[in-house]
Amino acid sequence: MFSFSSILQYQNELAQNNTSCVEAVTHYLQQIEQNKRLNAFTEAYAQEALEKAKQLDDKRNNGAPLKKLHGVIIAIKDVICYKGHTVTAASKILTGFTSLYSATAVQRLLDEDAIIIGSTNCDEFAMGSTNENSVYGKVLNALDETKVPGGSSGGSAVALQAGLCMAALGSDTGGSVRQPADFCGIIGFKPTYGSISRYGLIAYASSFDQIGIFGKCMEDIALLLEIMSGPDEYDSTVISQKTSTQGAYEAYTNFKFSSENEKKYRIAYFKEALFHPSLDIEIKENILSLIDKLRSAGHKVEAIDFDLLDYVVPAYYVLTTAEASSNLSRYDGIRFGYRSNAPVKELTDFYKHTRSEGFGKEVQRRIMLGTFVLSAGFYDAYYSKAQQVRRMLVDKTIAIFNEFDVVVMPTSPTTAFGFADANDDPVAMYLADIYTVFANLTGVPGIAIPLFKHSNGMPFGVQVMANKQDDVTLLQVASHLMKEYDMHDR
Ligand code: GLN
Repeated sequence: MFSFSSILQYQNELAQNNTSCVEAVTHYLQQIEQNKRLNAFTEAYAQEALEKAKQLDDKRNNGAPLKKLHGVIIAIKDVICYKGHTVTAASKILTGFTSLYSATAVQRLLDEDAIIIGSTNCDEFAMGSTNENSVYGKVLNALDETKVPGGSSGGSAVALQAGLCMAALGSDTGGSVRQPADFCGIIGFKPTYGSISRYGLIAYASSFDQIGIFGKCMEDIALLLEIMSGPDEYDSTVISQKTSTQGAYEAYTNFKFSSENEKKYRIAYFKEALFHPSLDIEIKENILSLIDKLRSAGHKVEAIDFDLLDYVVPAYYVLTTAEASSNLSRYDGIRFGYRSNAPVKELTDFYKHTRSEGFGKEVQRRIMLGTFVLSAGFYDAYYSKAQQVRRMLVDKTIAIFNEFDVVVMPTSPTTAFGFADANDDPVAMYLADIYTVFANLTGVPGIAIPLFKHSNGMPFGVQVMANKQDDVTLLQVASHLMKEYDMHDR
């Protein structure tokens, strides 16, 4: 039977003729079919993926040099454009819309001979934490189908969790890769803002959005990061000088085989985060005990004050909704996607009908909130204030990473909860983003790694953050933690 543990292992098997790309694609298509009830995919590109696999097998058998992602099977969130394929952001308003071009990230994967197997379900326009805000319906957590997979990249997380692909792309504006990874017991990584081009990523909040990676192991994540990152003439917010992420795989693997075990890290944690009243007691105790173990192992681990913690969620929701209200103004029913048939006399009425019918409840709420915080009279009280908070957070981050290599935090205050227990109160739901939005407000990289199992049966882990552009250190520390402190009986 086909099995996959890492890209390297798969490519070795291909080289030894123990498997083929066609066998791999066939396996994943069967798995996708058998796990349809999880609702992880919005569409699988079955025929096309098989054809590409066949071409790659022929190419390999003819002795052509193999590209870095030869035959690697990847799923992409339904907010990432792939030329000639439907992209909807899980919204009615983009019904039937076909991408006119591929996102830079996708194009770079294709250029290395990856196979895109399908697009994955998510919260509408990446807004949400449970994957319930989708026009395609909810996604189920494969570990317990009564529980949410997290959001907004729930489909990508479950696609990897349930073995429906080798790696998956998500987008992370305020935790949408890290939180579902935590809820599903897999690795989810958000790189430094500006590492991977956002060209072809449907915008939610442009100064926060970043494409992220769900991968089976740290090596796979480092490889995908290296391939997708780097300057792009279509996105001026990508870091323009050569960055460490462009050599991530080599830097990561070289390091791993040399000094990993001897290296002692300087690790910080926020007292306010670990002693926050919303944090589940078992999560808190496990992370505190991890901290003790790291200290005993000779790492420098220190608690630092972080009195801004209670401001991060409000600042995030003011700024992201402001950006969203502007970004989503383009969906007017004229240029693309859904258009209302309601009889109207005025153009503005047509816009109103289209947008009221096309956008879901949560997206409408955020557009209205964003319009409100930007409106004359409230701009200074909300938008400017939130920008000031963002500035203070950035200053704090600079100070922290002058002294420490990484910060450890919980990823979410709870483990995956039941669909029935999901909170209807949007503010309560927003507050659960308390640990993830910091990395997006400041642009630093963050990763969620699975380490523990809760007595309720669900997995959880820790989140690790490093300085901007220090993604390789982040992957090294995360790999070290998974190697030494994984409490799962895998
Ligand atoms: N839960 C967050 C929100 O609803 C995360 C969104 C995201 O990262 N795309 O805004």
